[in-house]
Order: sequence, then C-alpha cells, then structure tokens
Amino acid sequence: MDFVVLLGPPGAGKGTQAKLLAQELGIPHVSSGDLFRDNLARKTELGLLAKSFMDRGDLVPDDVTVRMVIDRIGHPDCEAGVILDGFPRTLGQAVALDDALVAAGRCVSVAPLIQVPDDVLMDRLTARRICRQCGAVFNLVSNPPEVPGVCGECQGELYQRDDDNSETVRNRLYTYYRDTAPLIGYYFARKLLVEVDGQQSIDDVQTALVAAVRSMPGDCQ
Ligand code: AMP
Repeated sequence: MDFVVLLGPPGAGKGTQAKLLAQELGIPHVSSGDLFRDNLARKTELGLLAKSFMDRGDLVPDDVTVRMVIDRIGHPDCEAGVILDGFPRTLGQAVALDDALVAAGRCVSVAPLIQVPDDVLMDRLTARRICRQCGAVFNLVSNPPEVPGVCGECQGELYQRDDDNSETVRNRLYTYYRDTAPLIGYYFARKLLVEVDGQQSIDDVQTALVAAVRSMPGDCQ
C-alpha cells in the first residue's frame, strides 16, 4: 500500500477515519485543511492567503495547494505510505499528484469514497465541535461531549470551525459537487475506487476502510 486518497463530501467523516486508519496502518495522516489551518494559526503568508477562500467555503487555488501538499509528502515520515485527507480536491490536483508520484516511483493504491447524503452532512457539520488542544472531534447531536464545551479526551476547550456555519457549509457542499465529485470518475476509471457507507458507526466505517485498503495490491506496478 502506498498513497490512500480518502474521498467524500465535507462532513463524511474523512478526518476522523483518516486518523484511525493512520494509527491502524502506522503511516501519517496528511490533511490539506489541517495544513492550511496550521499556516493560518502561525499567520504565515500561505495561511493568510488561504483564509479568504476558507472563510467562504471556496477552494484555495491549485498551484498553492499542490505545492504545499507535495512538499509535505516529500518528508521522510511519508516513505512507507500516507493517508491523504481533503487532497486532491480537483482534477488538476489529482493529475499533479499522479505526476509527482510517478516521478518518485510511487502511486495512489486505493481511493475509498465515504458516502453520506446531503441532509445528514448539513446537520453533522453545523453541529461539529473540535478540541482546541488535541483535535478530537465531537458532534452536539450524534457524539456530544459529556461536559458541554469540554473535550472528553483531554479537557481542552471545544470550538466551532469558522467555516462550519450553515451558509459556508452550503457553499462547501456546492463546491464539492462541482469541483471534487469528478474525481470519483477519475479513480473509478483507474480501478482504485471503493465505496463505503459513511452512515454506519465509526467502527464499522473503519473496518470497511481497512478492508478496502487491504484489498488492493501493495506495490506500484
Ligand atoms: P477541510 O478541513 O478539508 O474541510 O478544508 C477546509 C478548507 O480548506 C476548504 O473549505 C478549502 O477552503 C481549503 N482546502 C482544504 N483542502 C483543499 C484542497 N485540496 N484544495 C483547495 N482548498 C482546500
């Protein structure tokens, strides 16, 4: 197994599942959204550029995004494989990723698609709360913290992402269908797509994902 590209609309559970999958497989989880948020927190030029796009729920331009992610996956911790979460998000990004991987003798091994209906996504995203300290994800409806506003894992403070308000969520979903959904065909044509029902329990989605990853050939021939 080399690169795992997790596909699915915002709110499908890619982040939660990517973390679990990374633990299970012993390889890093690289989230383009987290890389942008980290840059934003450090007030880098890249972070400030990304902010206006993120606030609207629009995609950050491909050239900037591709450069940031290709740089990250070139680090030594990525040699045994990577779980990519939120990248690629456009056909241009997918082609740039393939070009970079081919040049390095590497490949995308599998592209699991986590499927969840739109009305469920809206509810999930607007009720999502995240721990400022450890990044644990809660949901006020389906997975509420025991003490309101407090992380059950580390007692950190919970917050709502700026882009999880209903207006921005609607635009993120629209952007997903316009720009990212074409990737389903791209990976299907390469026989890398595996569909997973994202409305199952977190454990059952994880079991299906592990099976999907293990069902694919381990090398890049
Ligand atoms: P996420 O955490 O994956 O939901 O990403 C949050 C926001 O970061 C998105 O709404 C985009 O504005 C930006 N972003 C994350 N990944 C990408 C990407 N691959 N291409 C362009 N923009 C991205």
